[in-house]
Amino acid sequence: MLVDAHAHLTDKKFERDLQGVIKRSEKAGIERIVNVGDKLETSKISVALAHVYPMLVASVGVHPHYARFYSHEVEEHLASLAEDPKVVAIGEIGLDYHYRNSEPELQKQVFCQQLKLARTLNLPAIIHCRDAYSDLIAILQEEARRERPGVVHCFSGTRNDAEQLLAMGYYLGIGGPITYPNADSLRAVVTEINLNRVVLETDSPYLAPQHKRGQRNEPSYIKHIARQVAELRNLTLKDIAAITRYNATRLFGWLGDSVGKIAYPIGHNLYLNITNQCTNRCLFCRSNNDYVVKGHYLKLDREPSEEEILQAAGDVEEFDEVVFCGFGEPTIRLDTVKAVAKQLKARGVPIRLDTNGQGDLINGRDILPELRGLIDSISISLNAHNQTTYNKLCQPKLRQKAFAAVLEFTRKAKQVIGQVHVSAVDFPGVNITKCRKLAEEELGVPLRVRSYSVP
Ligand SMILES: [Zn+2]
Repeated sequence: MLVDAHAHLTDKKFERDLQGVIKRSEKAGIERIVNVGDKLETSKISVALAHVYPMLVASVGVHPHYARFYSHEVEEHLASLAEDPKVVAIGEIGLDYHYRNSEPELQKQVFCQQLKLARTLNLPAIIHCRDAYSDLIAILQEEARRERPGVVHCFSGTRNDAEQLLAMGYYLGIGGPITYPNADSLRAVVTEINLNRVVLETDSPYLAPQHKRGQRNEPSYIKHIARQVAELRNLTLKDIAAITRYNATRLFGWLGDSVGKIAYPIGHNLYLNITNQCTNRCLFCRSNNDYVVKGHYLKLDREPSEEEILQAAGDVEEFDEVVFCGFGEPTIRLDTVKAVAKQLKARGVPIRLDTNGQGDLINGRDILPELRGLIDSISISLNAHNQTTYNKLCQPKLRQKAFAAVLEFTRKAKQVIGQVHVSAVDFPGVNITKCRKLAEEELGVPLRVRSYSVP
């Protein structure tokens, strides 16, 4: 499922075949399109269209090109349009020093007024910026911290611009230009920034991706943009779709998923989320904030049965590996792990267990012999080089026994299962060097470092 965070379907170019455009968007897996107003007239049409096509939501605002038409009356009209529940943002508003259809001073004034309107209405802003990043950032910095900042659409600034905007809580919209041959600097920025505030957009009918360049752009072409971002980040199209869809949900304040996923793909692996119970309360665990991993919501309302897990897993043959993981400790449900692994094993797919290494402690017995032949590899969260650090970072329930149990489990797993590694998160307080030393020299297993900042 994809979200097009910026399109102008009110444009005359869509007059004749909007229905077909919407149909193709549905077929292309688009869940929602933010249909952006750029002056009062198109804002009104956008709201009206959002009531005709369920997948459309609207934004209302005056583009810097039309700043000279902004007035108190226009503002009152925008405010009343924004009362409609299908209006999700104020925009597009901003600064355009490239075309200068209106004087820069006037643009700034009108931009600030509409930012104020967005704040009053508690809506995010959809911001257009061309050749005006330093003024834009100065204006946004002068504003007091906003609860719901907004998005800089069709981002075209530098790495430094991006970092400053992200630090202020703004999202960045990435569109067709990311696919253009001359966009190396934009691609470099998108390769490096944190993806947790990136959304995808087409800006239809403008800026068609390279494949379709010169033609009228439309939302269904968003997959070309998603594919380019996926390639830059070494992720799959599905990963990028899940991440950016979740980002759009937060940005525009839509109701997110309310049912946690039991099975979710990341890259070429399938992950199984079978419990949210854990014997640790790690400081860096994402269940502390939003329960989302790479765009997948994982808060379970109850623990799924063996049948439900197998059904959610579906055709596992297409994956490189199936991993018991999720937001909890799988060995708390050891019988379920064994039963599901047995079924999946019969289909010939490699199986990994991601665990906190406290399985023996949890079950009160040596569990590894029971997993032999069912689990092909084990990844154990280490995260610390001694008990004091472990207790501080992972907050285990059994403070006196947990760390020793993890070390013991790792040693035994190496003998019984064979393929074993330990992991550590690059979170403040985790000493990667010492963890590596412990892993390699004392436990005889490799250490894998997981990035904390990647959502
Ligand atoms: Zn636009």
